[in-house]
Amino acid sequence: DIVVGVLAVQGDVREHIATIESLGGRAIAVRRPSELSAVDGLIIPGGESTTMDKLSRTLGLADPLRDLIAGGLPVYGSCAGMIMLSDVVADPSTDRSGNPQQTFGGLDMVVRRNAFGRQRESFETDLDFAGLATTGGAAGDDPVRAVFIRAPWVEKVGEGVEVLAQVPAAETPRAGPSGGASDSASGASYGGGTSGTGIDLDSVARIVAVRSGNLLATSFHPEVTGERRVHELFIRMIRGEA
Ligand code: GLN
Repeated sequence: DIVVGVLAVQGDVREHIATIESLGGRAIAVRRPSELSAVDGLIIPGGESTTMDKLSRTLGLADPLRDLIAGGLPVYGSCAGMIMLSDVVADPSTDRSGNPQQTFGGLDMVVRRNAFGRQRESFETDLDFAGLATTGGAAGDDPVRAVFIRAPWVEKVGEGVEVLAQVPAAETPRAGPSGGASDSASGASYGGGTSGTGIDLDSVARIVAVRSGNLLATSFHPEVTGERRVHELFIRMIRGEA
């Protein structure tokens, strides 16, 4: 049967392992490059993308993982994991020498970190999520309870990237350094307020779940709410059934 690896350099590894096991799957923590060859699919957990980037490079995991992703390995990233799968980070953090954080990439999209704002660091909402199947007590089309913790959103997607879930405009929390608008020092804009071009950012739905081929990513953390349908979808992707 299939083995699902969970990248275990940093982040909420246990919760993902527990969710896969609750679905009857086998899950292992992956810390070394050699362990990558034992898995049929990989989960990149939530945590801190800058730390994950540094550690996975130090441990020699980043390059083999990039190759495996390009070769079609199924990978699911939640929150920081979504950032790690994105080809472009809109507002990368930089290290002391000024080098921007790196990602594994694979998803043709632009992600914005901490996008829902820093004052209100977390929130929960119910989402419509495409492509889920009935799992345990939950029907495929029941809403997903989504927990966002300093979460990214997807700002732009390329042609091959399918949008699976969005936070409706009305439910996007007002946020940002001082209730919205933009951070002039970095040029970054945040949810809430008005953009430099006068667009009311609260009127825009935000993309929070995507799929492209064998890659799946969510801004939120299904692994912390007992939600199992997203992991069930990922298992079906690994099996070639979805
Ligand atoms: N803000 C984090 C980052 O940039 C992600 C937060 C999370 O994974 N809960 O990596």
